[in-house]
Amino acid sequence: MSNTNVCIRIDDVGNYDDLKCNFLIDTFIKYNIPVSCQVVPKWIDERFENKLAKEWLNKDTSIEWCQHGWEHYNHSENINRKFEFGDTRSKKNQQSDIVKGKNKLLEIFGDKFTFAFCPPHNRLNQTTIELLQELDYKYILGDTRTLQDYVLNDSIRFYEFIISKSLNLNGVRKIFTNKKLLQILEKYISKTDFVGICIHSYEFASLEECLVFVQALKLLQSQLKFSFKTISELC
Ligand SMILES: [Zn+2]
Repeated sequence: MSNTNVCIRIDDVGNYDDLKCNFLIDTFIKYNIPVSCQVVPKWIDERFENKLAKEWLNKDTSIEWCQHGWEHYNHSENINRKFEFGDTRSKKNQQSDIVKGKNKLLEIFGDKFTFAFCPPHNRLNQTTIELLQELDYKYILGDTRTLQDYVLNDSIRFYEFIISKSLNLNGVRKIFTNKKLLQILEKYISKTDFVGICIHSYEFASLEECLVFVQALKLLQSQLKFSFKTISELC
């Protein structure tokens, strides 16, 4: 039995037409694997809201709904350092977007909303952190690029998602195969008690590949006996 907790993070959730993304959520539910969905508030239209109400929010699932910025717009002038929240933006502008997003998600998800903020492109700045603390967020989700030298107080916890299904190498996106990703996961499981994995629907070629990925994760869990958890279940 491994003591490691594995958290799967699906980014860029909220687009009704993103069939692979929505299929991934359904498949994680079907295989009873808790998953943390990073929702882009502005993307949610009436169709997605209806789908949520009919298919996901009325069931007792281990899906966690968190905030992925506001509209996933790039406000950076550097194409290799994209961000929605960062140094080109005033505190007032950042606050306006964070609050719009939070209010929309609270309206839709109610008490099923987890006070976790995942900045698009995994970047933010000290101002973003101060705002998230003032607005009572409990968690920031990111990767190795997120915190840099920024300072957090005790009211908010940072979770680093060390594994990604794809990496941007000098402008070229390299997508790991399911097999490679699981090999990387297996290595981390023996070394650490928390492993975060970040996935996006565009990293999967087909619905079939989404399904194979979830099945392979389930199989690996049965072999290595780690636990799948959402962020709110960890605390
Ligand atoms: Zn994103």
